[in-house]
Order: sequence, then C-alpha cells, then structure tokens
Amino acid sequence: MYTCGPTVYDYAHIGNLSAYIYADTLRRHLEYSGYEVRQIVNITDVGHLTADDLNQADSGQDKMLKASLREKKTPEEIARYYTKCFFADVKKLNIEKAHYYPRATAHIPQMIKMMEALFEKGLAYEKNGNVFYDVTKFKEYGKLSKKKIDELRCGARLDDHPDKKHSYDFALWLKAPKKHLLKWKSPWSFGYPGWHIECSAMAIEYLGETLDIHSGGEDHIFPHHENEIAQSEGVTGKPFSNLWFHNRFLLVNGKKMSKSENNFYTLKDITDKKYDPMVFRLLVLGSHYRSNLNFTWKRMDEARKNYEKITRFIKKLTEISSLSLSTEGGKNVDLTRFLQEFEDAMNNDLNTPLALSVFYDLISKMNKNIIDQKLAPEKAREILAILEKMNKVFGMKIELKTRSIPKVIFDLLKKREQARSKKKYKEADKIRLEIENKGFIVEDTPDGQKVRIKELLPS
Ligand code: AMP
Ligand code: ZN
Repeated sequence: MYTCGPTVYDYAHIGNLSAYIYADTLRRHLEYSGYEVRQIVNITDVGHLTADDLNQADSGQDKMLKASLREKKTPEEIARYYTKCFFADVKKLNIEKAHYYPRATAHIPQMIKMMEALFEKGLAYEKNGNVFYDVTKFKEYGKLSKKKIDELRCGARLDDHPDKKHSYDFALWLKAPKKHLLKWKSPWSFGYPGWHIECSAMAIEYLGETLDIHSGGEDHIFPHHENEIAQSEGVTGKPFSNLWFHNRFLLVNGKKMSKSENNFYTLKDITDKKYDPMVFRLLVLGSHYRSNLNFTWKRMDEARKNYEKITRFIKKLTEISSLSLSTEGGKNVDLTRFLQEFEDAMNNDLNTPLALSVFYDLISKMNKNIIDQKLAPEKAREILAILEKMNKVFGMKIELKTRSIPKVIFDLLKKREQARSKKKYKEADKIRLEIENKGFIVEDTPDGQKVRIKELLPS
C-alpha cells in the first residue's frame, strides 16, 4: 500500500491528517481481515513548482524555497523540522507507523533512471535542460480521472512553460535557476525533479511494479496520480496499482480546507482547545471517506460527547469484569451479531459511520444491563473483548484493561471466608490486607465477598 505523504514545508492541517486517518483505517481493516500490509508513505522534501501542472491554483513558487525564505532556514532544516512535526501528529492520532517513509531527496538516482527509461520508450523529451512527459504518446492518459486530452487542450493555461510541446505535458525534471537551493546533477541539467516522478520511483523501489493499493486525497486523482500512472506504466507496461483509494475533502464552511485559502486548523488548534486528538479521529470516522466532512467546533463537541460515552462505558465494563460476584445478567444477549454487523459495514466500502453505529448500539444495549445491575462479569469480559477487536480497526487510544482476577486472589478469598466462618477475625483481616497489597479490594456484601481492582474504585 502506497500512501502519498506530506510535503514538509509547513504544519499539516487537519484536512491532510484526515487523509492519513482514512488510509490508516483501511490498513487496520485489512490487517483485521487477515492481510499482511506493507505500507509506504513518502516524504516530499523537495520543492516542486506546481504551475507546470494543470489544474493547480498554486502560484508556481517552490514551496520549500518559499518556506526557507520565510523562516530563514535551509530547505533541509525546514524539511527536518516539519517531518518531525508530521510524525508527532501521526503519533497523537494513533495512526499506525508506515513500514518506511522514503524521502524524495534520497531517491534522485532512482528518478533519473526512470526518466532515462521514459526517454527510451519515446515518452519524454528535453529542451534547454528541462524534461517533460509527452502526454500524447501515452494512449491511456486520463483513464483514472476520466479526462480526455481534447478537454485538457481546451483548459490549458496560457502561461505554461515555454519549453513544453503541449501545454498539458508535465515536468519530469527542471533546470534550476541560480537562486534555487536544492539541485542535483543529471544528464540534462543541474536541476530538480518534478513532483510526480518521486512517487512512481519510490513506490516501485519499495513495493514493486504493481501495487495493491495506492491512496491519497481526491485532489491527487488529477494530475498527480494520473501522471504517476503515465510514468510507471509507461516504463513497466504493467498496471501500476490494482486499487485506488481517494478520500473526499474535509471542508470548512463548505469550502476545501487548504493552506492557500487560509481556512485551516492544525492538530495543535484542536489540542489547544482541550480536545483529545482521539475526538478528531472519531469525528473523521463518523464521516464516510467518500463524502465531505464539514468541520465545525459544534461537531467536535458532539464527537467529544461520544468519545466520553465510549470511555465511560469501557471503564464501567472493566470494573464489572473484575468482580467475583456471579450473576446471570446479559447472558442471553447474543454478541456475535454485533461483530458480524461491524464486519459487514467495514467490508462494504469501509463504511465507518455504520460500523461506529454498531459500536454505539452495543454500548447502549449493554449500558441498560449495567444500570439494572444485571451484567455478569463474564459477559462484561466478553463485551470488552469485542470492543477491543472493533477498536483495532477504529484505532482509538483507549485503555481497554481486561485484567481479570488471578487465581491467587480467589484462593485468599476462600481462606478469608473460612477464617470468618470460624470467627477468626484477626486472621481474616490479615488476609484482607494481603489481598489489598496485591492490588485488590474486598468488600463484604449480603451476597458474600466482592473483590475488585484497587485503582478502579471511585476516589
Ligand atoms: P499535501 O501535503 O498537500 O501533499 O497533502 C497531503 C494529503 O492530504 C494528500 O493526500 C492530499 O490529497 C490530502 N488533502 C489535502 N487537503 C485535504 C482536505 N481538505 N481534506 C482531505 N484531504 C486533503
Ligand atoms: Zn504521491
């Protein structure tokens, strides 16, 4: 699985982070379903001019260069700092680490090799040290985005690069102007790679010529992924990716959250407002990856309520699961249906909102049993195990302690019961202390002794 990663010139906004949460949920669900997943997420640490790509509203200024002028740092320092910030966000959101995070600047030789292969196939041309992909030579160009070259021709921008044959061709390599800080030697010029070539080169380097899954946000369908296909399939002649996974945009006030619109929030904005990062994860999961999520703080409040409901329930369940009392409560409730419904929802195009509703349904049904004080500890343990299974896919950082009571405690309880029946109260107290020292509390109730884990007692 190849996931297009961040361009590390600034903090990621929560729209970007939602893309990684969805990809992570897909990966987690595949792992849950028994697949072994190898995930590669690239780090774009080389600035790319974006004006040579069609349909990009950007100014064409190199993002890394812009950032290094803004912050008076070298591009390497900028990249190092924002990569670190990206990893910190990934950790806070409990996104599973990719197996490898290749950096674009460390793969220039692979990109050059690929471009040479494109020349051999007659798909690339050079002028004045700049190299472009000749889109007209790749018959299947547009197959992912369903765009036709004729349409691109109409939409082409006039201010395109003067060395291009066709305005819809895209850059593979650009000759660096004097002030450009990051540049490499190549057969064509001292320059730097276009954006798309890095993903083709790194995906093939680490995952082979055909990937199972390639993910990214919807803006990547065109031109980025269309161009990745043209490059990769142009060289290998094999399908580049069997499946494409694109998430819809996260919006603010109905508009795409983006740096250029200046309508973005970072994860820090969320934690500064005292929301747990898991609340954001839950908000994202509550919206299907193929529909737009309109971000509002009101929705964050609703997500927080749900998150608290989940954690409260799990805490209660953990308490009950450590009781030694035997009751029959909830024993007839069939729990397998919940897991089945959850799996059906996830298998149906990763329907996380529906899967979450199964999770909530289980909580409210079982909460009723708890309120009626009928839930049997064994049942509580069974529910915990199910929630834990589901949560492997949801990926929320919740302590699901299913610590059961060890046999040694039951043995001590038996001894204490015997001592009490013989009215040896001193000995019984000694045993109580011994139990306490092992981290458990004994209560004497009309139903007999009741034991629970010490730290879970209300303070
Ligand atoms: P970038 O760092 O700009 O390459 O973006 C990183 C990832 O975030 C890419 O997969 C983008 O498609 C995705 N992305 C960018 N903006 C949004 C947004 N508003 N909502 C969801 N995903 C986004
Ligand atoms: Zn990419």
